[in-house]
Amino acid sequence: MKALVYHGPGQKAWEEVPEPTILHDTDAVVRVDAVTICGTDLHILKGDVPAVTDGRTLGHEAVGTVIEVGTSVRNVKPGDRVLVSCITSCGSCRFCREARYGQCLGGGGWILGHLIDGTQAEFVRVPFADTSTFAIPEGVSDEEVLMLADIGPTGYEVGVLNGRVAPGDTVVVVGAGPIGLSVIMGAKLFSPARVVAVDLADSRLEAAKQFGADVVINPSREDAVEIVKSLTGGLGADVAVEAVGVPESFEQCTALVRPGGTVANAGVHGGPAVLHLEDLWIKDVTITTGLVDTYSTPTLLKLVASHQIDLARFVTHRFAMDDFMEAYDVFSAAADTNALKVVLTR
Ligand SMILES: [Zn+2]
Ligand SMILES: [Zn+2]
Repeated sequence: MKALVYHGPGQKAWEEVPEPTILHDTDAVVRVDAVTICGTDLHILKGDVPAVTDGRTLGHEAVGTVIEVGTSVRNVKPGDRVLVSCITSCGSCRFCREARYGQCLGGGGWILGHLIDGTQAEFVRVPFADTSTFAIPEGVSDEEVLMLADIGPTGYEVGVLNGRVAPGDTVVVVGAGPIGLSVIMGAKLFSPARVVAVDLADSRLEAAKQFGADVVINPSREDAVEIVKSLTGGLGADVAVEAVGVPESFEQCTALVRPGGTVANAGVHGGPAVLHLEDLWIKDVTITTGLVDTYSTPTLLKLVASHQIDLARFVTHRFAMDDFMEAYDVFSAAADTNALKVVLTR
């Protein structure tokens, strides 16, 4: 079969590899019907994630059809249409028992396309298939569900729920890429007074408006802190969500939040950021961090199936899997192509 294989920083190829087989009796092998590329894959290709080694098939998001299951798999069977989520869960370790699947100690967590071969392939082996796949409801498209493999629950759990967004809040989202847009969409479910999007790219601010942002700010021209203060009686945001992953945007979030508010970090950081405790120590601010756990995926699946949220809006470009290299080019040049999420199908 063909797969997108990492060969060290800057090096990748869509090439022939052996098909996956059942290695453990809790595994399933899934035929990949639709797959996407994540910003995290671009970090890997830059060499930012040294645990990913030469020869690894990338990808941690897919929708597919179960082909084969191990002898102890009970919940899924060949022919089932399933979501393969970015987080694998053993289901029985200390963290899985408190729904912190991202921190799984039993061999799960973020392993696909990281520590084991991933989903950017014609077939993928999914460990702990009973607790790591989700059955797809009737009438929901592959594209819609695919957005729940990562960006849907990541924005909702790490941004909206960690940020404790509540009705009437002013929510500021710094970074209007796919995760930031997912945060905006999820925050709207809680009837905030307003959602403010901050980004340096006007095209992303335009997308933020389409996803429900009420106010957009380009900090290259405007002072985000001043504008948010003017909207909130001088106090600042109830919730500030960091969705970029650079020091400046984290530091900006801590300047944007009101006393007693929450800063929720969703960005993937590659270096240190300054924590201005000389300003923050007196402000009763809560700062949260987190990797997605995907405990919200069943809830989000119901919202998709009942058309309360429209995740298909994330999909800007479509390719055949044989055009994987071109899909990476388009996705990694998002500033020029306006790509949010690309979908590849068989
Ligand atoms: Zn991802
Ligand atoms: Zn576990």
